[in-house]
Amino acid sequence: MTYQPIIGMEVHVELNTHSKMFCGCNADFFGVPPNTRVCPVCLGMPGALPVINQRAIEYTLMIGLALNCEIQPHNVFARKNYFYPDLPKGYQISQYELPLCLGGYVDIETGDGQPKRIRIRRVHLEEDTGKLVHVNNYSLVDLNRAGVPLVEIVTEADIHSAEEAYAYVSKLRQLVRYLGVSSGDMEKGAMRCEVNLSLMDMATGKWGTKVEIKNLNSFRSVRNSIAYEIERQAKVLSGGGVIEQVTMGWDENRSITVLQRAKEGDTGYRYFPEPDLPPLDLDPAWIEQVSISLPELPDPKLARYVSDYGLSQKEAKILSEDRAIAAYYESVVAATGDKTTVTPKLISNWVSGELFRLLGERGVEIGEVKIKPEDLVALIELVNSNAINQPAAKQTLGVMFDTGRPPLAIIEELGLRQISDAGELTAVAQQVIADNPDPVAQFRAGKEATLKFLVGQVMKATRGKANPQLAEQALREQLQQ
Ligand code: ZN
Ligand code: MN
Repeated sequence: MTYQPIIGMEVHVELNTHSKMFCGCNADFFGVPPNTRVCPVCLGMPGALPVINQRAIEYTLMIGLALNCEIQPHNVFARKNYFYPDLPKGYQISQYELPLCLGGYVDIETGDGQPKRIRIRRVHLEEDTGKLVHVNNYSLVDLNRAGVPLVEIVTEADIHSAEEAYAYVSKLRQLVRYLGVSSGDMEKGAMRCEVNLSLMDMATGKWGTKVEIKNLNSFRSVRNSIAYEIERQAKVLSGGGVIEQVTMGWDENRSITVLQRAKEGDTGYRYFPEPDLPPLDLDPAWIEQVSISLPELPDPKLARYVSDYGLSQKEAKILSEDRAIAAYYESVVAATGDKTTVTPKLISNWVSGELFRLLGERGVEIGEVKIKPEDLVALIELVNSNAINQPAAKQTLGVMFDTGRPPLAIIEELGLRQISDAGELTAVAQQVIADNPDPVAQFRAGKEATLKFLVGQVMKATRGKANPQLAEQALREQLQQ
């Protein structure tokens, strides 16, 4: 029997607002002593009242708009009731029937390079829980994270493989980083995934029982747990067995899914409208304003680089992948002004080639790069006008990278200016011919390749400063005599 995996995902994204969702506590809890960023509201003290964080609403709208959702102006927060030691109130303030965003989509790239559309069912806003720290045979509670704004993004069951799930989560992380609303760091828990997976019998078209895999906190565990669970369910079904509706966890060390508990339905949470908060009605003018101020997103940016800048799909992808890199690249393009010889394509070569190499080698982030956009343009111009050759340009760029100085001063200081003077190159060519009688004889006997060696000797004699084309030309002229 053959099966088609049917997968839906729920991703929780922690927003990077200054304060928490319903109180003024600092929402940045990373590396902070336990229970130092708490107050009566996020500790769940009786009588303490929540106040909605406007910035968190704005960030959620940005995510919803980036996912092509319909924004719902009329919102109601709801209580999701359940008991757990990291949940001080005994309920989580979330959204249920009336979430902020409904019905969107996101396009991902699949393995064969084809785009695929994943529909988004809803995006809602809620509060995070605290954390339990397990020590030997007891547990401690840290409530610094309790009340941090958390966005939940739910897809339709449009994902059909572990690779597609991986591509989807990668795209989500890229979007929230582009929007600047979350670090998207799965390793630090700023993005957490849950998977709903069942197998459809290809012969009958019947969907199987859904299994939930919870708390996946790395890209690798998303991919591996899905691949494992597909195989497990197929084996059970092929053997005539039955899939139970359960919640599983992913055991990273053993690389298997493990049973956590029988699945409970939404009824178990006894949702009801949050009585401490009035319904939230958003001003359409404000929604419009948030929409207008969205940054250009990666897909349209990539398309623009191809159409306006003449970059290949691959080059455009490399430069648009990260917002800070794209911003640097565009600042260099903008600095060209009327210098038409410095094309966006040439700049792309320098940025994704030599500049990326320096970033990696020196361990520097693009935001810390000292090279001024106009200086990179000037360097490319100097190469175009044959004032310096490629190796000298690379050497110059290295110094520019470390010091932030303009190229011309560095070139003069290091004596890197290319020798393009015909008289000077002729003299060097004559000397090289005199010093290398054997290769010269070989060349004259018809072994064309020997010329490369002789050009190399000219480069060596000029300490790399000769213009290679002119050096070859001078050698040919002298060899014909
Ligand atoms: Zn608080
Ligand atoms: Mn949730």
